[in-house]
Amino acid sequence: MDGEGKRGKAVIVGGSIAGISCAHALTLAGWDVLVLEKTPSSPTGSPTGAGLGLNSFSQQIIQSWLPHSQQLLHNTTIPLTIDQNHVTDSEKKVHCALTRDESFNFRAAHWADLHGLLYTALPSDIFLWGHLFLSFHVVDGKGSVIVKAKVLETGKVVEIAGDLLVAADGCLSSIRQKYLPDFKLRYSGYCAWRGVLDFSKIENSETITGIRKAYPDLGKCLYFDLASGTHTGLYELPNKRLNWIWYVNQPEAEVKGTSVTMKVNSDMIQKMQQEAEKVLIPELAKVIKETREPFLNFIYDSDPLEKIFWDNVVLVGDAPLLTVLEAQTCPY
Ligand SMILES: Cc1cc2nc3c(=O)[nH]c(=O)nc-3n(C[C@H](O)[C@H](O)[C@H](O)COP(=O)(O)OP(=O)(O)OC[C@H]3O[C@@H](n4cnc5c(N)ncnc54)[C@H](O)[C@@H]3O)c2cc1C
Repeated sequence: MDGEGKRGKAVIVGGSIAGISCAHALTLAGWDVLVLEKTPSSPTGSPTGAGLGLNSFSQQIIQSWLPHSQQLLHNTTIPLTIDQNHVTDSEKKVHCALTRDESFNFRAAHWADLHGLLYTALPSDIFLWGHLFLSFHVVDGKGSVIVKAKVLETGKVVEIAGDLLVAADGCLSSIRQKYLPDFKLRYSGYCAWRGVLDFSKIENSETITGIRKAYPDLGKCLYFDLASGTHTGLYELPNKRLNWIWYVNQPEAEVKGTSVTMKVNSDMIQKMQQEAEKVLIPELAKVIKETREPFLNFIYDSDPLEKIFWDNVVLVGDAPLLTVLEAQTCPY
């Protein structure tokens, strides 16, 4: 550990929402922080990134990290004060309200905006982009940790010493795998089509007037529509964008690579749009059809881990926490 006021040096693997949040929390707690992220530059998106709902506790924590610019979180998000659930009749293509909670206290952000806000509030020199974490070992009777990473641009392997290793490397965490080699993700049985429609240039179109008529409280409401064997979520994001999510039960696909987000081709998108026209109300199916680059998340979970830290290594974010989405407290 370093001298006065400093707790030591933390090496964080993963510069997504969990990693960047830890960078804030640890910096405030007096740690020197270094973030290793394999993507080549500060991302403007994420495999799991579209709309993000922030409950009041998340809002409070994020505000505490932005002491000089509290207004920024408000500018980056919009308040969702209503939570309304509908039931959809897929044959008649109509929906009606089931429940309505007017004391909802969430804010909606786009993943990239929230990430950008948190990123720019930190010194840029604590981020090492384009650094692929390879391995680590604990030394000095658990006193410190040596991390090996590959600089992707040059192929050079570098060693970084720290006092704490934070694994924020997502649900496929290789650091978790080292401690829990038998751990396996469990497919939940469903996946989520997701997308964000930018309507800034089509505000007066039939699609937007139609969706506003069908969902009159868009802009302040989180809508859920339950239909037979499926459900959807819809809410507005800042800067004239609509975030939608459509859960579909289906067998597990072979998800290649290191992500639970599947690369989708135009055939899959077309089939999804046709299915949307069959089961959803036409106003929502139209929004889905007009969304560019929708993507597909396969949803995995696991039983809670018995342990999330070993020696001076700790798992954060999705690395330790895999629960089915309905069990979480965020709006999806
Ligand atoms: C359909 C769906 C909807 C959701 N909606 C919400 C919501 O509304 N609100 C909410 O709070 N949450 C929501 N979530 C959950 C949320 O998206 C995740 O909990 C969150 O993205 C996890 O962040 P993370 O930083 O832990 O992991 P990730 O975002 O997966 O980041 C892991 C990072 O680690 C990096 N990395 C991995 N391996 C290495 C390596 N070897 N070397 C260097 N870097 C590495 C990756 O490049 C990546 O940047 C949703 C999830 C899904 C699937």
